[in-house]
Amino acid sequence: MIGIVTALYIFGIIGVLVSLVIGLLSGSFWIFLLTFVGGVIFATIQFALANVLEKQEMILYYLQQQDQFLKKQLGTTLRKCSNCQYEFDAELSSCPRCGSRKEAGT
Ligand SMILES: [Zn+2]
Repeated sequence: MIGIVTALYIFGIIGVLVSLVIGLLSGSFWIFLLTFVGGVIFATIQFALANVLEKQEMILYYLQQQDQFLKKQLGTTLRKCSNCQYEFDAELSSCPRCGSRKEAGT
């Protein structure tokens, strides 16, 4: 499957090629120039979008990494469910697996 970033790049290139073909078929230099400029602008927008999406993926990745790092640093305390023995974040009031509110040992 092609990613959206690759699709945008291909879309931009196709845009330029299509504008070139239309411009050449028109036979007029000015129409050729106009369609070519239009195609280049279209491609630039597609490339810019692809660039932003690529960076967004990177930013999301870094944020996720930072989140994991912070969790490790803080040393999230775990609590064991008395009902299903599942370990979960002590800040939660009930077990995310079975919904039990009873704490182990209480
Ligand atoms: Zn449970």
